Amino acid sequence: MINYALEEVTYEGCPSCAFARGEFSLPCGMAYENERFMLSQDWELPIEGFFVVTPKSCVEKFSELTSDEQHEMFDIVNKTIEILRENNICERFNVLFEEKENRHLHIWIMPRHEWMEQFGSITKHIDDIFKHAKANFRNEDVYKRINEISDIVRNNF
Ligand SMILES: [Zn+2]
Repeated sequence: MINYALEEVTYEGCPSCAFARGEFSLPCGMAYENERFMLSQDWELPIEGFFVVTPKSCVEKFSELTSDEQHEMFDIVNKTIEILRENNICERFNVLFEEKENRHLHIWIMPRHEWMEQFGSITKHIDDIFKHAKANFRNEDVYKRINEISDIVRNNF
């Protein structure tokens, strides 16, 4: 995998399990973690304030979590959004639960930045938005901003 800062990351097996075991990390570090969940900048996309919440155990579906775990996961999503909004990173967000086969469940917290509006509907053109970010935002200014935003979330959690 190539991470958001254009570094090659290698792992064996499920990438989220490897991340949970600390076998690789991101330049911006982990924004928050406890015994059950972790929160970080999206690994691959250089989009400011784009965070991912993942369980530490290898769960594929949201329904496999206990009710308490589901609530805790969503509390993390909500708190992250509140911190990002209060610090003027972004005002509105799309939240996506992804249940891929043979992969760890994760929740994407995707800021609805103004630059995304050029693509029309954000949900309809999400792949174009991701391609645009990878082609245009791999630079030191963005990496620095991603570090700052991760620090903001870490310090306010
Ligand atoms: Zn896993």
